[in-house]
Amino acid sequence: METKQFQAESKRLLEMMINSIYSKREVFLRELISNASDAIDKIYYKALTDDSLRFDKDSYYIKVVADKENRTLKILDTGIGMTKDDLENNLGIIAKSGSLAFKNENEIKDGHDIIGQFGVGFYAAFMVADVVTVISKALGSDEANKWESKGAQGYTITPHEKESVGTEIILKIHENTEDENYDEFLDEYHLKTIIKKYSDFIRYPIKMDVTGSRPKEGSEDEVEDYIEEQVVNSMVPIWKKNKNELTEEDYEKFYSEKHYGFDKPLKSLHITVDGTVRYNAILFIPENMPYDYYSKEYEKGLELYSNGVLIMNKCSDLLPDYFSFVKGMVDSEDLSLNISREILQHDRQLKLIAKNINKKIKSELQSLLKNEREKYNTFYKSFGRQLKYGVYSDFGRDKEVLQDLLMFYSSKEKQMVTLDEYVSRMPEEQKYIYYASGESNERIEKLPQTELVSEKGFEILYFTEEIDEFAIKMLMTYKEKEFKSVSSGDLGIEADESEKSTESEDQDNKELFEHMKNVLTGKVKDVRISKRLKTHPVCLSTDGEVSIEMEKILAAMPDNQNIKADKILEINVNHDVFKSLKTAFETDKEKVNLYTNLLYSQALLIEGLPIADPVEFTNDICKVMV
Ligand code: ADP
Ligand code: MG
Repeated sequence: METKQFQAESKRLLEMMINSIYSKREVFLRELISNASDAIDKIYYKALTDDSLRFDKDSYYIKVVADKENRTLKILDTGIGMTKDDLENNLGIIAKSGSLAFKNENEIKDGHDIIGQFGVGFYAAFMVADVVTVISKALGSDEANKWESKGAQGYTITPHEKESVGTEIILKIHENTEDENYDEFLDEYHLKTIIKKYSDFIRYPIKMDVTGSRPKEGSEDEVEDYIEEQVVNSMVPIWKKNKNELTEEDYEKFYSEKHYGFDKPLKSLHITVDGTVRYNAILFIPENMPYDYYSKEYEKGLELYSNGVLIMNKCSDLLPDYFSFVKGMVDSEDLSLNISREILQHDRQLKLIAKNINKKIKSELQSLLKNEREKYNTFYKSFGRQLKYGVYSDFGRDKEVLQDLLMFYSSKEKQMVTLDEYVSRMPEEQKYIYYASGESNERIEKLPQTELVSEKGFEILYFTEEIDEFAIKMLMTYKEKEFKSVSSGDLGIEADESEKSTESEDQDNKELFEHMKNVLTGKVKDVRISKRLKTHPVCLSTDGEVSIEMEKILAAMPDNQNIKADKILEINVNHDVFKSLKTAFETDKEKVNLYTNLLYSQALLIEGLPIADPVEFTNDICKVMV
């Protein structure tokens, strides 16, 4: 009997399979079952146009049979089968689509990972088997053939007996090695798990003989084993079902079966698209933030299926980072099984699907915001931060998409409000969208800087998360309204008539302020009369782009570049403290220095900024007390 050589390229792939230390050897079963399913499809489509063929659903199936004693695993199908030429041409040459990716030498070098990422086809069998035997009888042929190979040396084809049309693939499973347990691939339970994991939605029944035990007939306490043929896969995937047939419970069950999260989904989305690109998807917006969400370990992505067969666990190209919380799956018949991650990134179909999905998620969130505010609030608590990161990242590229989904706590409403709600309530004379930054709503509420804006009756948005100000700086405007920190130099609020006198007072106090500024050299840029303080004696404001909150955040970053806000010490000239300052300025300059330092330290404390020398500060207070 003549042993034939594999084609050069096939040989290389084969060697790689044999030597693979890839941990997901189990995908061999996915590949063989997919091939079996394809073979049944071929009969199915033939039967659609050929009257002599009757496609009788019951007679088409796949069966997986494990024989522990002989260490064989058999996968048989009642598909279209292969002639001698087919065996030669299809199994002697690696599938063209799959071969493409393997041409790249680099990929082969670190190829252990790529095997699991795309269909490698029939040769995957050599990851678990010493000998692979294929017995096949083609539709319309009287004879059957046996193809057999022990790997890279080559293969043989000989005539063989087989009664019915179809294919049997028999794998002689490897002996266990020190690091690898091959017995698993002969274990009923384990095989069932693999089939469920990868091939649950194959359209045809995948059968297995499953051993059960039952009470022995005529005996009370004796049990006997029996073998029962079971269909392992559920066949019709939930995403191919009609939405009307499904309940919220069905989606919840799917969510937990798939281990998308331990929580219940807040919202599920079932998408069926039949346009230029065809796909089905079930997407979930989780209720709770996964514990590792903001860590490096968290991996975004959706499961990707090609016509019911899982090809990738986490396809990250399907989700933008700002929607990285979305869980779920996409199935498209327009995607090929034999597709590597690198190729996938450039796949036109996939890009279309991603774009489409992105739109659907956004509109779902918008409708949640509009119609189910309670739910949106829950969502926002978990993932609002991610949306704000989305506004900020890539230099604000996606800010238009996201700005209407943002919410901030409102000084007036005492709850989260959208920018649209804020702007629509703005009185005519209000020029800016005001915000105040701080550690918590409670602390911001007490900030002296908010006094004037609040007194004017203007709403203030509270920024309590690090990203808030950065995101807003990227947004710049909303509906043509600029954002303005209540601590910024110019608030854009006209002073009342009664307060117009400040200009001349400014002149009067010039010397005093000059003096104070000198005392605080290197600490503040200027000392000024405050137009925003009503009851407090002092506060800090800033000129320029960097706010005090931003300074704090930047200081906490690993690559601290010591960026400082341009601070202005603002003094409330209507406060009694100012009168004391003025009197002291006439008589006792030492006292002015003391008061200035104290006022500055107080302003720092209010902002939650550290005092450079706390001991000096307490000593100063003691000086005032005695
Ligand atoms: P692909 O499935 O991408 O074509 P494979 O390596 O998985 O690549 O299979 C190679 C070819 O072998 C298939 O295209 C098919 O023609 C043939 N083949 C494999 N398994 C079977 C089977 N069970 N029945 C009929 N033909 C098969
Ligand atoms: Mg295949």
